[in-house]
Amino acid sequence: MERKVRVRFAPSPTGPLHMGGVRTALYNYLFAKKHNGDFILRIEDTDQARFVPGAEEYIIQALKWCGITPNEGVGFGDGGHAPYRQSERKPMYRQYVEQLISSGHAYYAFDSTEELDEMRSRMEKAGSSFAYNAIIRQSMKNSLTLSEDEVQRRLAANENYVVRIQLPRNEEVRVKDIIRGWVVVNTAQMDDKVLFKSDGMPTYHMANVVDDYTMQITHVIRGEEWLPSAPLHVLLYRFLGWESSMPEFAHLPLLLRPDGNGKLSKRDGDRLGFPVFPLNWTDAKTGEQSSGYLERGYFSDAFVNMLALLGWHTSGNREIFNMDELVQEFSLDRVSKSGAKFDPEKAKWFNQQYLRLHSDEELADLFAASLQEKHPGIVNSVSRDFLVTACKLIKEKANFVHEFWEQGSYLFIAPEMYDQEVIKKRLNERSMAFVVAMKDVFLGLAEFTAASTESAFKQVAEAQGIKTGEVMQLFRVCLTGVAGGPALFEMCALLGKAESANRLERALATIKTQ
Ligand code: GLU
Repeated sequence: MERKVRVRFAPSPTGPLHMGGVRTALYNYLFAKKHNGDFILRIEDTDQARFVPGAEEYIIQALKWCGITPNEGVGFGDGGHAPYRQSERKPMYRQYVEQLISSGHAYYAFDSTEELDEMRSRMEKAGSSFAYNAIIRQSMKNSLTLSEDEVQRRLAANENYVVRIQLPRNEEVRVKDIIRGWVVVNTAQMDDKVLFKSDGMPTYHMANVVDDYTMQITHVIRGEEWLPSAPLHVLLYRFLGWESSMPEFAHLPLLLRPDGNGKLSKRDGDRLGFPVFPLNWTDAKTGEQSSGYLERGYFSDAFVNMLALLGWHTSGNREIFNMDELVQEFSLDRVSKSGAKFDPEKAKWFNQQYLRLHSDEELADLFAASLQEKHPGIVNSVSRDFLVTACKLIKEKANFVHEFWEQGSYLFIAPEMYDQEVIKKRLNERSMAFVVAMKDVFLGLAEFTAASTESAFKQVAEAQGIKTGEVMQLFRVCLTGVAGGPALFEMCALLGKAESANRLERALATIKTQ
């Protein structure tokens, strides 16, 4: 019988979740949903020294914001495999470590830090690098070199120890990766990694494999940085007798800096001015702040859509997919082997696409909320219809709702300054006479719509023998103060007859005296 697909996202709470981590979570989620499987959030907090307060909450909040919702896990409920925090699973690991020791696949090692350092420097002096492996272990203090009595004595005396995996000296380990194909490593290139410590805590490798097995994980989808650990994990499955239920592996390509040189890091974000985290984060120790996509005004679905396409491509050319569509379309076959270059401009483009997908009504709500914070008087000074139409006009040129005010404040407040360049270039007696006439014609219009104002504009120009192109920009500057902006006559209709005529009159008076 086919096993039910079960995947997990297994971050360590060592800081805010990087966007690369969000992408790993996303691919796991998409894969699970596509195959009607389960997606689990497991917190890998065995390394207490690297624990950062607040990081776990941050991870949960970030996944929630993105709509990447686990079926079970820390913060998301029990699917029959609780607890999902490794520190709370501590009592489960020892039995498997003992199983490995008694089957001859692991051993106790009592070497002190000084002894390890001494061996390291001795090896380095001799021109080779230090690895606790099948050769070196023979000259170290461990249960392979000490007598059984001595080992028991040390254990009884509660001496510090670690348990190391006992690797074969020279054997090929083959890992099948869904994205990369077969990866083959010889154990001679590996070392006897620590699996367990005398404080009763497993290390990452041990806990990771035991949890994946006991949580019935079928596919391990994780970042490329874990590929070097995969052969060790394969051996652990073999040594524990779990090979037949070993998960399949898929190691995802790195996210690269915009120039393609190296891994995308927090520093690149700071330097180039884009966020690398989903949400704002403040480092409790240093007070250092890092900005998040949410607070920068990104829609979560735009962020998710952008991330999905970093390192994976769809079957066609289409780029805009909501979460359900991503689930339908997702396949690990189309994840690339090579790193994915992050393009901050493309991120903005995605947001712009999603901005346009929102209804004017929805944008009006968002805009009103953002105005309420910074310019509370403005929201109350206009009608709901006005706000909705204003959003319709402004959204054409904006990437973010928070740009609406900057780009369209003149819809709400008449200008006091006028673009000097346009005035210098376009203001003359003829164009001035045109604006004067327009003001009067506007006041006489029975119906004040985009269509009626536009035809009035054309008629006046024709009557005065002026090409519309000669006066269009000046006319716009008289109304708004600035040279560019939304569709001119739709804007006139929004401002209304009295306001449009007033603005023209005021502009004529001001420009004359400027
Ligand atoms: N705890 C590891 C991390 O922080 C998980 C690696 C894995 O998915 O196996 O990324």
